Amino acid sequence: MSMKRFLTALLVASLAAACGRTSPAPASTAADPESRTPDPGQRKYLLERVDDAAVVQLYADSFNSLPLREKTLIWHLYQAALAGRDIYIDQKHASALEMRGILDQIVAHPQGIDPATFAEIQRYTKYFWINNGPYNNLTARKFVLKTTPDAFAAAAKAAQAAGATFATRNNEGTASSRSGDAESLDALLKRLEPMFFDPNVDASVTTKAPPPGKDILTASANNLYAGGVTMNDVKGFTEKYGLNARLVKANGRLTEEVYKIDGRYAKEIAAIVQHLQDAIPFATEPMQNALRALIQWYRTGEQGDREKFDIAWVADKASPVDTINGFIEVYLDPRGIKGSWEALVFSINPEKTKAIKTIGDNAQWFEDHMPYDAKYRKSDVKGIIANAIDVIVETGDSGPVTPVGINLPNDQRIREQHGSKSVSLANVVEAYDKSTPGTMRGEFSWTPEEAGRGAKFGSFADVLHTDMHEVIGHASGQQAQGFKGTPQQALKEHFSALEEGRADLIGLYFVADPKLVELGVIPAADHDGIVLAEYEGYTRNALVQLRRVREGATIAEDHMRNRQMIVRWLMANTKAIEQRTRDGKTYLTMVDRQAFRDGVGKLLAEVQRIKSEGDYPAAAKLFDTYGVHFDPKQRDEVVGRVDKLNLPSYSGFVMPKLTPVMGADGKITDVTVSYPLDLTTQMLEYDGVVKR
Ligand SMILES: [Zn+2]
Repeated sequence: MSMKRFLTALLVASLAAACGRTSPAPASTAADPESRTPDPGQRKYLLERVDDAAVVQLYADSFNSLPLREKTLIWHLYQAALAGRDIYIDQKHASALEMRGILDQIVAHPQGIDPATFAEIQRYTKYFWINNGPYNNLTARKFVLKTTPDAFAAAAKAAQAAGATFATRNNEGTASSRSGDAESLDALLKRLEPMFFDPNVDASVTTKAPPPGKDILTASANNLYAGGVTMNDVKGFTEKYGLNARLVKANGRLTEEVYKIDGRYAKEIAAIVQHLQDAIPFATEPMQNALRALIQWYRTGEQGDREKFDIAWVADKASPVDTINGFIEVYLDPRGIKGSWEALVFSINPEKTKAIKTIGDNAQWFEDHMPYDAKYRKSDVKGIIANAIDVIVETGDSGPVTPVGINLPNDQRIREQHGSKSVSLANVVEAYDKSTPGTMRGEFSWTPEEAGRGAKFGSFADVLHTDMHEVIGHASGQQAQGFKGTPQQALKEHFSALEEGRADLIGLYFVADPKLVELGVIPAADHDGIVLAEYEGYTRNALVQLRRVREGATIAEDHMRNRQMIVRWLMANTKAIEQRTRDGKTYLTMVDRQAFRDGVGKLLAEVQRIKSEGDYPAAAKLFDTYGVHFDPKQRDEVVGRVDKLNLPSYSGFVMPKLTPVMGADGKITDVTVSYPLDLTTQMLEYDGVVKR
């Protein structure tokens, strides 16, 4: 799909930290846990570590200077974003919300729990919150509680004695009278024990490499399918609601449970719709049209209404505030059809938007100079909107782990006819930058010069690469004449990785083009340094990213696959990259800039051909040869080196918190932003355990 997800952010993180900062700014010593007006120089970005994840505070500095009308608009959209959170958690696994309910209650009632057990439950719960369920979002694999079921049960009982209420079956957690056959706490814990403790039960949330006897659907534990739907079942079935329905098999029949206001997730969707309606009076006219169209889609669930919404959303090109809210990305579904719920609310950052806009304004020039066959080039690249944004809140599939760039809608036909909107998440990139130490680059660079270039130019180069990826990359190219259907349908499980690879290649190809200097996007004196820093950093990443797949010898995640594929293809087909060893450590070193760029152009031509023609066998071969498999010994070495540095593999963000100020008449007179600086505080508020 076309959303540049968190892995790019990780690349940003690994390349960033230009000033050699090795630890975050010191924490404020103020007693008030919510810092209202943090001094940007003093404030805290890195809040804590949870295993291989960093917890980072996101700041929305531009919010305070917005007019009241926009603040009020954002307040309602923010509530709509929070109202749908549980949808995504439920989509991840049918038991995830029940599991969260138990964890929340224990964490909120720690009195009397054995300290070692509580510490482990806290660790697990934080990891669960960051990942929106019991699956690591990089590896798709389940993680488990490292205590015993007995110790966990004892903790739950201590929490119960301290006032915790558990939503057992036939007992929705209310203190009111319970029916006689209500499930006991012990029975609840017993029922969920395999999910909490057994890594082999529902081991992977999304897998495209099923074990023998299973297919990609039956081997994937997500809740987008229920009742044991197989790929064979799907073959003979016409889906009316591909993106926004759960496919259920019962009594040998398939049915679609549509996500809509009176369908599946009715309660959450009704709340979302209410908040969207409240937002409408404060929106610009084009945005009002988009919000009304979104509400209509939530009402009917119909594809036609989804298309109308996409069109209305793309048509809103100038509003200073925008939202993404709905069933959007398809990474969770091994088939790449079903949409995960997500929401973002953001405002445009006008200063940072300038460079990205320049690139977008010249989209046709880039299209005309693509290194692929002219018949796959668009003669008229339309409606590329590119903005740098400041995120106020991200939930569902985009929070706490967030992308750094987004390009939507995903519907290829709408993109071709109406264009798309691209955003780069400026305050997210900044928070990554400020929270990440620079030692990783040094560890994996062959020379101090390479590390120095990364420090000096890496951050700039990667932001630029992200812009190119989104604005030019995903918007470019067209299907071959006579091609029927969509490239998604043709390329199936390889589509997302191929499309992400295509967009990355376009960024890598053009970053070396003097056109960017001519446009004033890159200072002439820095061009060489920026190109080298980008190529070297991209090359190192193929090695460094292996730290995120701690088990097995295959890569599941699409962005990781595409990055692996590009670097390994270049290694096999050009002289651009050398694998070297020193003191028992492996290095991937970019040694020939021109060979790198020529290789990227050649590979891009082939990748575009595969997409335009829908050449499934070629896509499968490309990824099977270069993108999926890796040497686990090399991974173990990388993990050892990274663990020594104690660096995070990814980050989960604590979002800004909004609070309305009401006048005597109940009308909003202001909305204030504050920063919780604590994951547990925010999650217990979001989950409704502690008052917001
Ligand atoms: Zn992308």
